[in-house]
Amino acid sequence: MLQKKVCLLGAFAVGKTSLVARFVTSMFDDKYLTTMGVKVDKKVVNVDDKEVNLLLWDIAGEDEFQKVQLAYLRGSAGYILVCDGTRAVTIDQAKDIRQRVETNIGKIPVVLVVNKADLAHEWEVTDATIDALRAEGWTVFKGSAKTGESVEDVFMTLAKLTVGG
Ligand code: GDP
Ligand code: MG
Repeated sequence: MLQKKVCLLGAFAVGKTSLVARFVTSMFDDKYLTTMGVKVDKKVVNVDDKEVNLLLWDIAGEDEFQKVQLAYLRGSAGYILVCDGTRAVTIDQAKDIRQRVETNIGKIPVVLVVNKADLAHEWEVTDATIDALRAEGWTVFKGSAKTGESVEDVFMTLAKLTVGG
């Protein structure tokens, strides 16, 4: 079976752990759990009739972010960048991470999730910002780990990109 390592990257508390939990277990837990180190979840998905074992690396470490995240990224087939729609600064952090990945590792498949779509009334990230990113070639989803909105799409889109489709 094909095996693909996928990393979740993004600023602190944007919802990386919650998105993986939603995708893998279809659940959302409000309890605030700070991820320490790295946790690897697995889920088998079908892409073009092929079974793909996704290894989902959920990485913590905003402080040692540069060294830690780049080290964990080695061997990744792609990554999911997460930002929080209620905090515009997290988009800048996501752009920064992408820049750093491309400088250090090169261009590998990536999708951006603007998470917490269930809090749309509190969003600082505007449609104009999202449209501008799409115009630059980014694949961007608005989603919510809480409601499940777009979560399947996010992971399946990245899975397809990693098998070259
Ligand atoms: P991480 O640090 O990026 O792994 O973020 P977490 O998954 O730990 O989530 C940080 C906080 O945001 C927690 O309190 C979550 O319950 C909350 N959270 C995550 N996703 C969502 C979402 O889609 N909607 C809402 N309203 N809260 C969310
Ligand atoms: Mg986490």
